[in-house]
Amino acid sequence: MKIRVLGCGGSFGSPLAWGRNGNIDIINLHNHRTRSSVLINNNHQNILIDTSPDLRDQLYKAKCTKIDAVLFTHEHSDHTAGLPDMRAMSLINKSIIPAYVSPDIHESMTSNYTYIFEGYKDYSPFMKLNTIQDRFNIGDTNVETFKHNHGIIDVQTYRINNFAYSTDIKNFYEKDIDKLKDLDLWIVGLLRYDSHPSHAGFEQILDYINYLKPKKTLFTHMTALLDYEDLLSKCPKNVEPAHDGLEIIL
Ligand SMILES: [Zn+2]
Ligand SMILES: [Zn+2]
Repeated sequence: MKIRVLGCGGSFGSPLAWGRNGNIDIINLHNHRTRSSVLINNNHQNILIDTSPDLRDQLYKAKCTKIDAVLFTHEHSDHTAGLPDMRAMSLINKSIIPAYVSPDIHESMTSNYTYIFEGYKDYSPFMKLNTIQDRFNIGDTNVETFKHNHGIIDVQTYRINNFAYSTDIKNFYEKDIDKLKDLDLWIVGLLRYDSHPSHAGFEQILDYINYLKPKKTLFTHMTALLDYEDLLSKCPKNVEPAHDGLEIIL
Protein backbone atom coordinates (compact mmCIF):
# COMPACT_ATOMS: atom_id res chain seq x y z
CA MET A 1 0.00 0.00 0.00
CA LYS A 2 1.24 3.49 -0.86
CA ILE A 3 0.00 6.61 0.91
CA ARG A 4 0.63 10.02 -0.65
CA VAL A 5 -0.05 13.18 1.32
CA LEU A 6 -1.62 15.34 -1.38
CA GLY A 7 -1.98 18.28 0.97
CA CYS A 8 -1.42 18.88 4.69
CA GLY A 9 -2.56 22.47 5.23
CA GLY A 10 -5.40 23.81 7.36
CA SER A 11 -8.50 25.32 5.80
CA PHE A 12 -6.65 28.45 4.62
CA GLY A 13 -3.57 26.58 3.36
CA SER A 14 -0.13 27.81 4.36
CA PRO A 15 1.01 30.61 4.10
CA LEU A 16 -2.27 32.46 4.64
CA ALA A 17 -1.67 34.94 1.80
CA TRP A 18 1.21 36.89 0.23
CA GLY A 19 3.35 38.27 3.06
CA ARG A 20 1.09 36.69 5.71
CA ASN A 21 3.51 33.96 6.74
CA GLY A 22 2.45 33.35 10.34
CA ASN A 23 5.39 31.62 12.03
CA ILE A 24 6.71 29.70 9.04
CA ASP A 25 10.06 29.98 7.27
CA ILE A 26 8.82 30.88 3.82
CA ILE A 27 12.03 29.56 2.19
CA ASN A 28 11.34 25.99 3.36
CA LEU A 29 9.03 24.42 0.75
CA HIS A 30 7.78 21.95 3.39
CA ASN A 31 5.91 24.94 4.86
CA HIS A 32 3.93 25.53 1.65
CA ARG A 33 0.84 23.46 2.29
CA THR A 34 -2.27 22.94 0.20
CA ARG A 35 -5.53 21.84 1.80
CA SER A 36 -5.59 18.39 3.40
CA SER A 37 -6.18 15.17 1.53
CA VAL A 38 -4.48 11.81 0.93
CA LEU A 39 -4.30 9.35 -1.94
CA ILE A 40 -4.09 5.65 -1.10
CA ASN A 41 -2.96 3.07 -3.63
CA ASN A 42 -3.90 -0.42 -2.49
CA ASN A 43 -4.28 -3.54 -4.63
CA HIS A 44 -4.08 -1.43 -7.81
CA GLN A 45 -6.91 0.83 -6.66
CA ASN A 46 -6.63 4.56 -6.05
CA ILE A 47 -8.71 5.68 -3.08
CA LEU A 48 -8.90 9.38 -2.32
CA ILE A 49 -9.77 10.74 1.11
CA ASP A 50 -11.48 14.15 0.69
CA THR A 51 -11.52 16.46 -2.33
CA SER A 52 -9.71 19.62 -1.26
CA PRO A 53 -10.04 22.93 -3.15
CA ASP A 54 -6.49 22.21 -4.41
CA LEU A 55 -7.39 18.77 -5.80
CA ARG A 56 -6.70 19.37 -9.48
CA ASP A 57 -3.12 20.50 -8.89
CA GLN A 58 -2.55 17.81 -6.24
CA LEU A 59 -3.59 14.99 -8.60
CA TYR A 60 -1.55 16.50 -11.43
CA LYS A 61 1.59 16.54 -9.26
CA ALA A 62 0.86 12.94 -8.20
CA LYS A 63 0.60 11.99 -11.93
CA CYS A 64 -2.76 10.46 -11.01
CA THR A 65 -5.33 9.98 -13.78
CA LYS A 66 -7.68 7.50 -12.13
CA ILE A 67 -9.66 7.57 -8.88
CA ASP A 68 -11.59 4.42 -7.97
CA ALA A 69 -13.39 5.80 -4.90
CA VAL A 70 -13.57 8.87 -2.68
CA LEU A 71 -14.05 8.73 1.08
CA PHE A 72 -15.24 11.92 2.76
CA THR A 73 -14.28 12.76 6.34
CA HIS A 74 -16.84 15.59 6.68
CA GLU A 75 -18.48 18.31 4.63
CA HIS A 76 -16.39 21.37 5.52
CA SER A 77 -15.44 23.05 2.27
CA ASP A 78 -11.67 22.62 2.75
CA HIS A 79 -12.42 18.86 2.45
CA THR A 80 -15.08 18.90 -0.28
CA ALA A 81 -14.76 21.98 -2.51
CA GLY A 82 -12.56 20.20 -5.09
CA LEU A 83 -15.36 17.78 -5.90
CA PRO A 84 -16.14 19.33 -9.33
CA ASP A 85 -12.54 18.45 -10.36
CA MET A 86 -13.49 14.76 -10.22
CA ARG A 87 -15.24 15.29 -13.55
CA ALA A 88 -11.90 14.97 -15.35
CA MET A 89 -11.21 11.62 -13.66
CA SER A 90 -14.66 10.41 -14.70
CA LEU A 91 -14.17 11.61 -18.27
CA ILE A 92 -10.71 10.05 -18.69
CA ASN A 93 -11.84 6.66 -17.38
CA LYS A 94 -15.43 6.75 -18.64
CA SER A 95 -16.52 5.83 -15.14
CA ILE A 96 -19.07 6.88 -12.54
CA ILE A 97 -16.89 7.32 -9.44
CA PRO A 98 -18.30 6.11 -6.12
CA ALA A 99 -18.15 8.48 -3.13
CA TYR A 100 -18.72 7.45 0.49
CA VAL A 101 -20.17 9.71 3.19
CA SER A 102 -21.72 9.35 6.64
CA PRO A 103 -25.54 9.33 6.84
CA ASP A 104 -25.32 12.76 8.59
CA ILE A 105 -24.13 14.55 5.44
CA HIS A 106 -25.69 12.44 2.68
CA GLU A 107 -28.55 14.86 2.10
CA SER A 108 -26.52 18.07 2.21
CA MET A 109 -23.85 16.65 -0.13
CA THR A 110 -26.57 15.69 -2.59
CA SER A 111 -28.18 19.13 -2.47
CA ASN A 112 -24.85 21.03 -2.58
CA TYR A 113 -23.57 19.01 -5.55
CA THR A 114 -26.76 17.89 -7.29
CA TYR A 115 -25.31 18.08 -10.82
CA ILE A 116 -22.43 15.77 -9.78
CA PHE A 117 -24.52 13.07 -8.10
CA GLU A 118 -27.84 13.32 -9.93
CA GLY A 119 -27.12 15.32 -13.08
CA TYR A 120 -28.68 18.64 -14.07
CA LYS A 121 -30.08 19.68 -17.46
CA ASP A 122 -27.57 18.34 -20.01
CA TYR A 123 -24.96 17.40 -17.37
CA SER A 124 -24.90 13.67 -16.67
CA PRO A 125 -24.00 12.58 -13.14
CA PHE A 126 -20.37 11.49 -12.84
CA MET A 127 -20.28 10.26 -9.25
CA LYS A 128 -22.48 8.02 -7.12
CA LEU A 129 -23.05 8.78 -3.45
CA ASN A 130 -22.98 5.84 -1.02
CA THR A 131 -23.55 5.76 2.73
CA ILE A 132 -20.75 4.29 4.81
CA GLN A 133 -21.06 1.45 7.26
CA ASP A 134 -18.65 0.72 10.12
CA ARG A 135 -16.91 -1.73 7.79
CA PHE A 136 -17.22 -1.92 4.04
CA ASN A 137 -15.22 -2.96 1.00
CA ILE A 138 -13.98 -1.03 -1.98
CA GLY A 139 -12.98 -3.80 -4.38
CA ASP A 140 -10.81 -6.00 -2.16
CA THR A 141 -9.81 -3.14 0.16
CA ASN A 142 -11.43 -3.35 3.58
CA VAL A 143 -12.29 0.03 5.11
CA GLU A 144 -13.16 0.57 8.77
CA THR A 145 -14.58 3.88 9.97
CA PHE A 146 -15.94 5.60 13.06
CA LYS A 147 -16.86 9.12 14.15
CA HIS A 148 -14.69 11.46 16.16
CA ASN A 149 -15.60 14.89 17.48
CA HIS A 150 -14.72 18.15 15.66
CA GLY A 151 -16.47 20.79 17.79
CA ILE A 152 -20.13 21.01 16.88
CA ILE A 153 -19.94 18.33 14.18
CA ASP A 154 -18.48 14.84 13.79
CA VAL A 155 -15.83 13.64 11.37
CA GLN A 156 -15.00 10.12 10.17
CA THR A 157 -11.70 8.48 11.00
CA TYR A 158 -10.85 5.93 8.29
CA ARG A 159 -8.68 2.86 8.79
CA ILE A 160 -7.36 0.68 5.94
CA ASN A 161 -5.20 -2.20 7.14
CA ASN A 162 -2.57 -0.67 9.42
CA PHE A 163 -3.01 2.88 8.17
CA ALA A 164 -5.48 5.37 9.65
CA TYR A 165 -6.42 8.97 8.91
CA SER A 166 -7.98 11.22 11.57
CA THR A 167 -8.11 14.84 10.47
CA ASP A 168 -9.99 17.73 12.10
CA ILE A 169 -10.10 16.10 15.51
CA LYS A 170 -11.06 17.61 18.84
CA ASN A 171 -11.72 14.37 20.75
CA PHE A 172 -12.40 10.68 20.37
CA TYR A 173 -15.68 9.31 21.71
CA GLU A 174 -15.54 6.81 24.58
CA LYS A 175 -13.19 3.90 23.76
CA ASP A 176 -13.06 4.48 20.01
CA ILE A 177 -9.38 5.35 20.16
CA ASP A 178 -8.74 1.65 20.82
CA LYS A 179 -9.80 0.94 17.23
CA LEU A 180 -6.50 2.59 16.23
CA LYS A 181 -4.18 0.14 17.96
CA ASP A 182 -1.38 -1.60 16.02
CA LEU A 183 -1.00 1.07 13.35
CA ASP A 184 2.02 1.29 11.09
CA LEU A 185 1.05 4.81 10.06
CA TRP A 186 -1.34 7.31 11.63
CA ILE A 187 -1.97 10.63 9.91
CA VAL A 188 -3.60 12.96 12.41
CA GLY A 189 -4.74 16.56 12.26
CA LEU A 190 -2.78 19.20 14.19
CA LEU A 191 -4.06 22.71 13.50
CA ARG A 192 -1.67 24.62 15.80
CA TYR A 193 0.14 24.15 19.15
CA ASP A 194 -2.68 25.42 21.35
CA SER A 195 -6.14 23.94 21.32
CA HIS A 196 -9.00 25.41 19.29
CA PRO A 197 -12.76 24.94 19.89
CA SER A 198 -12.86 22.36 17.06
CA HIS A 199 -9.28 21.01 17.07
CA ALA A 200 -7.09 19.41 19.75
CA GLY A 201 -3.77 21.05 20.63
CA PHE A 202 -0.26 19.55 20.45
CA GLU A 203 -0.16 18.13 24.01
CA GLN A 204 -3.45 16.28 23.59
CA ILE A 205 -2.40 14.79 20.25
CA LEU A 206 0.90 13.71 21.82
CA ASP A 207 -1.08 11.98 24.59
CA TYR A 208 -3.01 10.05 21.93
CA ILE A 209 0.25 9.09 20.20
CA ASN A 210 1.79 7.95 23.50
CA TYR A 211 -1.27 5.81 24.15
CA LEU A 212 -1.52 4.29 20.66
CA LYS A 213 2.19 4.07 19.83
CA PRO A 214 1.81 3.87 16.05
CA LYS A 215 5.04 2.86 14.30
CA LYS A 216 4.95 6.25 12.56
CA THR A 217 2.78 9.35 12.99
CA LEU A 218 2.48 12.28 10.59
CA PHE A 219 0.72 15.57 11.27
CA THR A 220 -1.63 17.11 8.71
CA HIS A 221 -4.07 20.06 8.54
CA MET A 222 -1.40 22.49 9.80
CA THR A 223 -1.80 26.27 9.72
CA ALA A 224 0.99 28.77 9.07
CA LEU A 225 1.45 28.96 12.85
CA LEU A 226 3.37 25.66 12.63
CA ASP A 227 6.84 25.87 11.13
CA TYR A 228 8.08 22.51 9.82
CA GLU A 229 11.53 22.57 11.47
CA ASP A 230 10.25 24.08 14.73
CA LEU A 231 7.52 21.46 15.03
CA LEU A 232 9.89 18.64 14.06
CA SER A 233 12.29 19.70 16.85
CA LYS A 234 9.46 19.28 19.40
CA CYS A 235 8.34 15.86 18.13
CA PRO A 236 9.25 12.55 19.75
CA LYS A 237 10.83 9.72 17.77
CA ASN A 238 8.72 8.38 14.86
CA VAL A 239 6.52 11.50 14.84
CA GLU A 240 6.89 14.28 12.28
CA PRO A 241 4.98 16.90 10.32
CA ALA A 242 3.91 15.76 6.86
CA HIS A 243 4.62 17.84 3.77
CA ASP A 244 2.77 18.02 0.48
CA GLY A 245 3.80 15.20 -1.86
CA LEU A 246 5.24 12.97 0.90
CA GLU A 247 4.82 9.29 0.04
CA ILE A 248 4.98 6.37 2.46
CA ILE A 249 5.04 2.72 1.40
CA LEU A 250 3.53 0.33 3.91
ZN1 LIG B 1 -10.49 21.05 7.76
ZN1 LIG C 1 -13.37 20.67 9.47
